[in-house]
Amino acid sequence: MKPAPFAYAKARSLDHAIELLGQDGAKLLAGGQSLIATLNMRLSSPRILIDINGITGLKGIAVDDGRLTIGALVRHAEAERSPDIVQHAPLIAAAMPHIGHPAIRNRGTIGGSIAFADPAAELPACLLALDADIAITGPDGARTVKAESFFQGLFETTLAAQDVLTAIRVPAASPKMRYGFAEFARRHGDYALLGLAASARAEARGLSDVRLAFFGAGTTPLRAGRAEAALAGDIDGRKVEAAIAALDNDLDPPGDLQGSGPFKKHLAGVLLRRVVGQLAETVS
Ligand code: FAD
Repeated sequence: MKPAPFAYAKARSLDHAIELLGQDGAKLLAGGQSLIATLNMRLSSPRILIDINGITGLKGIAVDDGRLTIGALVRHAEAERSPDIVQHAPLIAAAMPHIGHPAIRNRGTIGGSIAFADPAAELPACLLALDADIAITGPDGARTVKAESFFQGLFETTLAAQDVLTAIRVPAASPKMRYGFAEFARRHGDYALLGLAASARAEARGLSDVRLAFFGAGTTPLRAGRAEAALAGDIDGRKVEAAIAALDNDLDPPGDLQGSGPFKKHLAGVLLRRVVGQLAETVS
């Protein structure tokens, strides 16, 4: 199919993009890897696309004061190759190769992935696991929203019509932090049936501050609070089983053409076991 007719404007600056977004039926265009498909399928018919690819302020990766900032226009491929991301955000580095295929990662952007808020996408769950901040600028100026409150529902976020997501910020990895990532997809590069991104602090013999963020398990990425609590302290087989049992109350994944709800819940336990293995690997 072909998209409905639309106009095109190239934003010269962030302020210009926000001004252009004031028009009826305007939508931002970043990498186009999700948007163009929805246009072609006529799931979306914006009157005008605002191309933000020329705004240099939305590009770049920086480490400052214990935080890693990734600009909204950083492409997945750039993030995948960035030594700063490997060193300071190893969880994001681990997730990157699972996002689509190289051709998609060459164009798709970090900001586009977060703003699109696909519940099966890897990055939103990573942001939850890392307690990330999302930087947004709108007509009233800049603000920061915690990842925890950014994702509101199926493809729904706190972004308002004239808002531009400008960057994400995560705490830079410290020697005490541990990270885990696992997903199950029918073919490599497909959206995951289910996945899990996690972080934890390594203590003398166990873990604290465990954050488990599942994707593909509901309409938004989801923390599994009871399983997190079950994993606190010394790690042993009994604890892992208790955490897997706790998922029964934490998650209620909807069934779809790829698998039933109970199957996905079983998968959540399998992935949790793998991820706890990664988190505990280096705990002395
Ligand atoms: P666009 O498509 O340009 O925009 C997406 C939406 O976000 C639009 O509504 C747009 O207006 C809005 N937007 C974009 N940038 C901003 C901004 N800075 N501020 C506010 N709003 C903004 N993704 C995964 O996570 N995992 C996968 O496994 C995966 N597999 C894929 C497989 C295929 C075949 C394809 C085509 C895509 C896949 N994707 C996957 C999606 C890919 O990661 C996209 O790049 C991403 O979802 C959107 O990024 P984009 O830059 O292309 O955004």
